[in-house]
Amino acid sequence: MVLVFIDQSEGHIKKSSFEAANYASAIAAQTGTTAEAILLGTVNDDPASLGKYGIKKVHTVADAALNHFDAQVYTKIIAETAANADIIVFSNNTTGKAVAPRLSVKLKAGLVSGAVALPETSNGFTVKKTVFSGKAFANITVTTAKKIIALNPNSFSIKPGEGTAEVAPLNITADKAKVAVTNTDLVKGEVPLSEAEIVVSGGRGLKGPENWGMVTELAHLLGAATACSRPVADIHWRPHHEHVGQTGLAIAPNLYIAIGISGAIQHLAGVNRSKTIVVINKDPEAPFFKAADYGIVGDAFEVMPKIIEAVKKLKG
Ligand SMILES: Cc1cc2nc3c(=O)[nH]c(=O)nc-3n(C[C@H](O)[C@H](O)[C@H](O)COP(=O)(O)OP(=O)(O)OC[C@H]3O[C@@H](n4cnc5c(N)ncnc54)[C@H](O)[C@@H]3O)c2cc1C
Repeated sequence: MVLVFIDQSEGHIKKSSFEAANYASAIAAQTGTTAEAILLGTVNDDPASLGKYGIKKVHTVADAALNHFDAQVYTKIIAETAANADIIVFSNNTTGKAVAPRLSVKLKAGLVSGAVALPETSNGFTVKKTVFSGKAFANITVTTAKKIIALNPNSFSIKPGEGTAEVAPLNITADKAKVAVTNTDLVKGEVPLSEAEIVVSGGRGLKGPENWGMVTELAHLLGAATACSRPVADIHWRPHHEHVGQTGLAIAPNLYIAIGISGAIQHLAGVNRSKTIVVINKDPEAPFFKAADYGIVGDAFEVMPKIIEAVKKLKG
């Protein structure tokens, strides 16, 4: 059996979990077994709807104490359910990064984190993953009986079909967490950056925080999230959770629009898995143009109003 961990936030299943579910069911089909899921906490979404992503059975622990993520508590519960699984799949997001390594130790299971493709199973079990902040790929052969894969978000397309999963509540009482959450500061953006299909991002070329109106306006029009380069967050023009790159968030949207960002290697490390990159920079020699699919050489303060106008016209 292939078991996938379904991550939720604020009572809703995350988009990255639908990808992980589709990925797990594709592995199950490939290896001639079935895919099941585990979902912790109370959710508004119907767990049975995971059947649309190829999941046959969803193990649930609808305990409100689990709505606050705790890596140790989660690992213990998942380990019990994973006892019957050959392969366990996570999304390689914050939760997956905290739980998958702990589970790997607990179950003595080989772990591949940052997977970007289905495993090659014709001769052993080899998984392709990104290394060196996305600058290269490595093929990792897992030799343990139990295997854990953490799939990079936006690496596997979601293809919902038909089907309803059986929902099987687990008779487990969550352990008391060893740490208590005293305060949660939720980032309220229109679109969460890590899940966004489109990202509009600004760099030091925008001169100051007072000029971010055009970034947020374009993002709003496109239903996109906003991001920024590291210096922009360091000098407090934008909040730190928007910082992408080697030392920030690594994202892989379908479209990344970079405005006034030079394209330093540390920045590219966080965005080079984007499917299409559009760069707006007044310097034709800016390194970002080498990584761009489309480039506009021009002053952002002249180009952006024109783009915003064009998008508005397109949207009627
Ligand atoms: C260990 C380490 C880790 C790092 N991690 C990260 C990271 O995670 N993320 C990150 O982003 N950086 C990171 N950096 C910093 C990185 O090296 C760069 O310094 C940074 O990305 C540059 O930010 P920037 O492109 O916004 O600014 P700049 O380098 O100042 O570039 C500004 C760009 O805007 C253009 N420009 C100027 N005016 C205009 C205009 N009017 N219209 C259009 N274009 C204009 C310029 O031509 C220039 O290309 C890291 C550095 C180190 C050493």
